[in-house]
Amino acid sequence: MGFGTLRLMQRYSFFTLARNALTRHQDWARAWRSPPLRPSYDVVIVGAGGHGLSTAYHLAKEHGVSNVAVIEKGWLGGGNTARNTHTIRSNYLRDVSIRFHDASVKLYEQMSAELNYNILFSQRSMIDLVQSWGKLRDLRRRSLAMALHGPTYQLISVDELRRRIPAMGDLQNVRLPPLAGVLHPEGAMARHDAVAWSYARAADARGVEIHQHTEVTGFLSDARGAVVGVETSRGVVRAGKVALATAGNTSHVIARAGLTLPLVTRNLQAFVSEPVKPIIDVIVNCPDVGLYVMQSDKGELVIGGGTDPYPSYRQGCHFATFEDVVASLIEVFPRFGALKMLRQWGGAIEFAYDASPIISATPRDGLFVSTGWYGGFKSIPIGGLTFAHLIATGRPHALAEAFTLGRFGGLRYLLEAGTVAQR
Ligand SMILES: Cc1cc2nc3c(=O)[nH]c(=O)nc-3n(C[C@H](O)[C@H](O)[C@H](O)COP(=O)(O)OP(=O)(O)OC[C@H]3O[C@@H](n4cnc5c(N)ncnc54)[C@H](O)[C@@H]3O)c2cc1C
Repeated sequence: MGFGTLRLMQRYSFFTLARNALTRHQDWARAWRSPPLRPSYDVVIVGAGGHGLSTAYHLAKEHGVSNVAVIEKGWLGGGNTARNTHTIRSNYLRDVSIRFHDASVKLYEQMSAELNYNILFSQRSMIDLVQSWGKLRDLRRRSLAMALHGPTYQLISVDELRRRIPAMGDLQNVRLPPLAGVLHPEGAMARHDAVAWSYARAADARGVEIHQHTEVTGFLSDARGAVVGVETSRGVVRAGKVALATAGNTSHVIARAGLTLPLVTRNLQAFVSEPVKPIIDVIVNCPDVGLYVMQSDKGELVIGGGTDPYPSYRQGCHFATFEDVVASLIEVFPRFGALKMLRQWGGAIEFAYDASPIISATPRDGLFVSTGWYGGFKSIPIGGLTFAHLIATGRPHALAEAFTLGRFGGLRYLLEAGTVAQR
């Protein structure tokens, strides 16, 4: 593995802003380079979403591996990283999941300072609205499990719920009257583009190359069947190791290496309203009816629900799902019925059969995969850090030992669902 040198990264600060204002902002350094594609690298990462870029950054930073190419078929950060509703949380059930996601939240807390890029991290807390006895039992169990590890998930009364979310209606005529709330103070949001851009800039400064508009179309193998490179739309690139961070495209990309993974692909959609004055200052999640809503810094309400009920690679909007989510929204927040919707979109997400991530070596030597992210924006910092560790050392990181493909052979499933509506 080659050890690259740290290039000088232009620091963003009040003084650089003032200095560049004097020259009409003509002299800003490029955030990352566009170098020519070379014929070989120590590591090729496929996919320049948050996970691929975070992995590249951590490979260079923690392991000194900077002879790395991140190869992206579109533009960096333009996949699901651009399509998600940027919710960050660590309210999980299994010990390994809680530890993993708690570490991710902690990395998010320092990310703006570490990468010298304002990711607009806003730790405004998340509140789950509980509307069924089954969900109350489920979330109470989750709260007790989390108490063993540090992140907070605390039951609150309906009165407290009303106090914290005054925009809610009186909830007298809802299908499922609320029984309680659960408060998760670590719940946060951050600007998704900035997360991708900040990792891209910091990885580039450490010598990593990012190649956009380059599609990986196949894999090179040696006589033993090990993966030793990729075929791309711009030619063949050899690599000591190949790492897939292709999110919702992983099933069909890895099929070109002759492998099938335990993944389901579904469309998940979101939409935003016209901007309004500040009305809701927490992230509200209603797992019983399949709805979550928060207000962006621009004032738009960002709204989402569960996935479409059937597998597909669609990236659009299924009207029945949209209608379902909006019906739930108006029931809980009747006043939002007067709002106009501004935009709607969807993304194909691939999640593992047990809804936990896969960060693993594969049966093909030299080929590694990070996938299965149901809600993987929140996991970008720790997903990249642990994937980089696996690629560099060949051993899973202590926080991600449970997330290898081996768990499916041995039926050691890590079932994680429940804070989102699953159909
Ligand atoms: C509507 C919606 C809302 C969501 N909300 C949340 C949320 O609130 N919180 C949360 O934590 N998560 C959320 N998610 C999930 C989150 O967006 C993803 O888990 C996360 O972005 C995955 O990051 P990634 O880097 O793995 O994937 P991506 O950003 O999709 O990156 C993968 C990249 O691989 C590239 N690629 C694919 N195939 C090839 C190829 N053959 N050659 C080269 N490049 C290739 C793609 O172009 C893409 O840029 C949401 C997803 C959607 C769709």
